[in-house]
Amino acid sequence: MTLDQNWFTEACEECGSAFSLKIKNKLHEEQSEYQKIEIYETETFGNLMVLDGFVMLTSRDNFLYHEMMTHPALFTLADPKRVVIIGGGDCGTLREVLKHPGVEECWQVEIDERVTRVSEQFFPELCTANDDPRAHFFFGDGVKWMQEQEPGSVDLVIVDSTDPIGPAEGLFAEPFYRDCHRAVRGGGMLVQQSESPLLHVELLKRMRGGMLAAGFDGVKTLTFPQPVYPSGWWSATMAAKGCELNAFREEAVRAKPFDTVYYNADIHRGALAQPEFFLRELG
Ligand code: SAM
Repeated sequence: MTLDQNWFTEACEECGSAFSLKIKNKLHEEQSEYQKIEIYETETFGNLMVLDGFVMLTSRDNFLYHEMMTHPALFTLADPKRVVIIGGGDCGTLREVLKHPGVEECWQVEIDERVTRVSEQFFPELCTANDDPRAHFFFGDGVKWMQEQEPGSVDLVIVDSTDPIGPAEGLFAEPFYRDCHRAVRGGGMLVQQSESPLLHVELLKRMRGGMLAAGFDGVKTLTFPQPVYPSGWWSATMAAKGCELNAFREEAVRAKPFDTVYYNADIHRGALAQPEFFLRELG
């Protein structure tokens, strides 16, 4: 079947699959210094952001990714106060982090300021924490920024980046993990979006190996549904620096003073369970 021009399609050649959304309108298109940014109004998924032809998020299902990139890590750590997001220009991860009243400071380090400005216009619901006095913005390369951080100055690094190509490539490499390990305090953590558990097992192996080689003492990959990403199944990998990844502050989750759409204590416990092939292939 051929789709007509009213459909946006992201084809994944090496996976032999594609995902499409029916489009009402193209709302915006620009070539920034770093990438082509497109925003569409879809028939059923709200607004859609596309960077260089790759789906980043939709209004309808971004809560899955943003909640699973933040709350499992924040409820695993004992008392996270200083959080850094690398990438995350749409500001959805920032919004989830700042739902935690104990977080005193959150930096969003995004290479492309235009992604944030376009999000403010087309995804205002993701940008509601941008004026929070605890929110800080730096527009520049996260690889370089991380090299310059004081040792032990960060409780949690969240890498919310594009796929490992172009400017994001260095965010999946061991030298970056070493810089993160140095910047994270003892008892802290790194968590990174780690692509599809179905399609990208080799990348997952490399990422987990790189994190351990950089000095992190344990890794754990959580999986969750994400309908608009290739295969519809996505993952986040946590790397520990002296913290326990298999336990979390369950009572605090049950008493959390904010709403979530997907995340709760049962979801967190379920996400810690490892698929059989992870045990075989990831070790
Ligand atoms: N949830 C999305 C996904 O997994 O497809 C990612 C969302 S967020 C829009 C990704 C951001 O990472 C982009 O805005 C991109 O500009 C940013 N990025 C890529 N490489 C970067 C780097 N080296 N430093 C900082 N930000 C970077």
